[in-house]
This record gives sequence, C-alpha cells and structure tokens, in this order.
Amino acid sequence: TKPLVEVKNLRKVFPIKKGWFGKPALLQAVDNVSFSIRKGETFSIVGESGCGKSTTGRLITRLLAPSEGEIWFDGQEIGKLDEARIRPLRRQMQMVFQDPYASLNPRMKIKDIIAEPLLIHEKMSAAEREKDVQRLLEVVGLSSFHGERYPHEFSGGQRQRVGIARALAVKPSLIVADEPVSALDVSIQSQVLNLLQDLQEELGLTYLFISHDLSVVEHISDRIGVMYLGSMVELADKDSIYEKPLHPYTQALFSSVPVPDPRLKREKIVLKGDLPSPVNPPSGCRFHTRCPAAMDVCRTKAPVFQEQEPGHYVACHLYGESKG
Ligand code: SF4
Ligand code: MG
Repeated sequence: TKPLVEVKNLRKVFPIKKGWFGKPALLQAVDNVSFSIRKGETFSIVGESGCGKSTTGRLITRLLAPSEGEIWFDGQEIGKLDEARIRPLRRQMQMVFQDPYASLNPRMKIKDIIAEPLLIHEKMSAAEREKDVQRLLEVVGLSSFHGERYPHEFSGGQRQRVGIARALAVKPSLIVADEPVSALDVSIQSQVLNLLQDLQEELGLTYLFISHDLSVVEHISDRIGVMYLGSMVELADKDSIYEKPLHPYTQALFSSVPVPDPRLKREKIVLKGDLPSPVNPPSGCRFHTRCPAAMDVCRTKAPVFQEQEPGHYVACHLYGESKG
C-alpha cells in the first residue's frame, strides 16, 4: 500500500544562545532523516530523550517547520506550506501528548474540551456536537456523565482517554502519540495501549508512536525506527529489530529489555561516556564516541542509511557497501 506519510532528508536546526555572552549556535535536532509510514500501521520511533523523536513528530504534524527536506502526507508535500494552508490538514493529523493534564484546559468541562476541535473544524449544530461528544466518550470508555466534570476530577488514565477522544473528534487518519503512556502507572499503561489498538482496528487509524520505553513499543508497533542524536540509525519491522538488531546502538538499547524467554537473553551492553550535545555532535558516525565497535573510518565518514536485509535499514560501517 501507498505510505500515508513519507519524510525525505528531513532536517531541523534550532538557533540557540550558549551562556550570557555566548555566540549563537545551532542545535541539530533532526539530521537527514528519511522514512515512511504505511496506512494503517503503527510506526514507532524510539530513542533516548534529546534524540529528535519528538521534533520529528512535530515536524510531521507541522507544529514545526522543517529546516530542510520534504514531508509528504497522503500524496501532498506539506513541508513548505504556510500556517493558513496547514490548518485544514490538521484535522487529518492529530497529536496525543505525554501529559494529558498539561494539555487539557483545567477550567473547561470535559465535554467542552472534546467539543473544541469540532467547533474549530466542523460545521454542525450544538445538538449534533453534543451527540458526537457523547459517542466519543463512549468510544474511549468514559461514561456520559463524565462530560460535566473537570480534568482534575479524573485519574491520569482517564485524562489520557479524554486526550484520545479529543484527538479522534475530527476523524483524523494519522495520530502522532508522543509518549502517551509514560506518565501513567504500568497497570494503566496497558489499558490505554489496548484502547489505542482497538481504535486503530475499528477506525483504520495510522499511528506514529514516539517512546523511550521499549517495553511499551514492543506491544504496539508494526515497525520501529531507532534514533540517536538526531539521526535514524536503524529501521525494521518489530520482529527483526527485537530478534536481530544490527546497529551497535540498537543492540545496546535492546540488551537492557527484559525478555521472557531466557534463551534469548542477551548480555547487557553498557555504553561508555555520556550522550554528546546535539549542538556540537561528533564527526563521522555520531555514535562513534560511545560505540564498542568503532573503527577509524567511523570518526570521519558518516555511514549511509541503507537497506541491509529486505525492509531492514541500518546506518553503520559494519554493514553493506561502506563496510571496511
Ligand atoms: Fe559504531 Fe562505526 Fe557503526 Fe557508528 S559506523 S555504529 S561507530 S561501527
Ligand atoms: Mg497495529
């Protein structure tokens, strides 16, 4: 099937000032990232905080404008569209955020929070809107009387259900969920993940799921992209990446995930050094300062992101043509 989203050589830099009298510098948040998201799949981006995964999500929904590169959404290049032309597309791509409390207006009733996107995007009567809100509350498993309440009267899991209902209100095709369960208790996490999966099947939704938590991502993903310091270093379907991670960073990241089958247990790989700054990232392969397999070439030459096995992409000099 045709991809719903395709990004090509995506780049985002943020100008920053270092210190009081510091020179302006550029933070390289996303550097030359390319991937696509198929209709109806859950594509996950994983990586540590600061790897550029959230920025990538905000670029795709065009809450941010890219510095370079292309963003294709449903056959249209949207990377260079101005705000006025993005607005009508926004209903097709909605975001669910990590902290539902911060993203819900505390002074608004739940029913008005869910109705808000309908007011912005849909022409409908108050009665129709009321009916829609009711339906949405049911869809996310919140009974109708909750609509009269305020966010503080809800638990974290219930608030995230409200966030999901609001995102669904305008019938989007893409949901970008940025750490949607990270703020929730583990027992509540699986309920919200199950709800997201049920909704995906029912409504044919496509998900971009952003998380630092591999146990969360394993549950929900079809394919996974791993980011490190602004670059995508590996991309494959879920099984390949869990069973046979190719990139040394992915291997280290996944070595700390508990596995139920003891035969699959890997030795935990502890990376040396700290995460370098995205303001002044290492030359060549950005991972070379911490990579247990680093070679001379890694310091000077950036590895190309290329297909190593069918559907399995990796950016590392240990593989493919750039080998040796
Ligand atoms: Fe390690 Fe070199 Fe591969 Fe980078 S390119 S991950 S430094 S082996
Ligand atoms: Mg799925």
